[in-house]
Amino acid sequence: MASADPILTLSDLEAWSRPGTALAVLGHPIKHSVSPAMHNAALAELAQTDPRFADWNYVRFDIHPDDLPRALELLHARRFHGVNLTVPHKIIAFDRVAAIDPAARPVGAVNTIRWTPAGWQGFNTDGYGLAAAVRETLGRTLAGTPIILLGAGGAARGAAVECLQQGCASLAIANRTQENLDTLLALLAPLAGGIPVRGFAPSAPPADLPAGALVINATSAGLRDTDPLPVALESLPRPAAVFDMIYNPPATALLQSASHLGLPNANGLAMLVHQGARALEIWTGIAAVRLAPAMGNAARAAMGR
Ligand code: NDP
Repeated sequence: MASADPILTLSDLEAWSRPGTALAVLGHPIKHSVSPAMHNAALAELAQTDPRFADWNYVRFDIHPDDLPRALELLHARRFHGVNLTVPHKIIAFDRVAAIDPAARPVGAVNTIRWTPAGWQGFNTDGYGLAAAVRETLGRTLAGTPIILLGAGGAARGAAVECLQQGCASLAIANRTQENLDTLLALLAPLAGGIPVRGFAPSAPPADLPAGALVINATSAGLRDTDPLPVALESLPRPAAVFDMIYNPPATALLQSASHLGLPNANGLAMLVHQGARALEIWTGIAAVRLAPAMGNAARAAMGR
């Protein structure tokens, strides 16, 4: 369970002398992360049949963003094999890696890094996690689907790039703050190819949005029960399904509204699992689809479900 793992600090990293192959997640805060539970469950399962993984262990560090450069240097010097980065480190770390996976470059953020002698190599597995979760939970592909994306922050950026790279039919993005929406639309313009991309205000969806869209919530509206809905689903042409990246609470007001309207819907727990499985694939060479079941069971147990 994640709660049984100690929360480590920069001082622990300075003094690091543990044997074995170390993996870690850095965040601030990191208390609620279920990543240690997920990764250690998959590593324990692997170690049962493959002794190479017997001494692998995944730990968590609470690192203030000001300390991230020092932490990354220390992790490299201490030969950590791989590291996950979560809020608020994904964008800061992008400029601190020696090499970037081409698929992560347009996202401008990394959530997974791998040790190489020349420095860290950066990846972003959130897009893979989203696509895999939408397939698993809703039986849908991003390819060929009209997408209505809510949000223009880091997660929305990764989702938008993935939708375009997968060949969605169209992409309409709604965000509370127009300026942030405009920034995201400008970033996406060179990636769109022939795919229509547009922005709109969540309070006034245009009447000509496509029906049958997949609505993806990538805002943080819904984390607290006092939050407003990121969009009123009734104000959109009837969507095909709704995916909310939030997994805690498991049923946001948006997902409750989707259920009320009879729309298939899913929360973000499967996305968390699949982005983690893809990260572990990058570090171990073992296929993510093989790792995901143990990680999913551990994530559900850590979430108390
Ligand atoms: P950011 O802080 O980068 O972006 C937040 C976004 O939410 C912005 O678009 C912001 O709009 C919008 N927003 C915040 N509060 C409100 C509100 N009250 N009403 C309407 N819009 C609001 O966060 P991230 O992009 O990193 O994360 C977004 C969500 O996605 C989080 O809930 C996070 O937990 C989840 N996530 C889940 C993952 C998973 O694996 N399941 C992976 C990554 C993220 P504005 O521009 O107006 O401020």
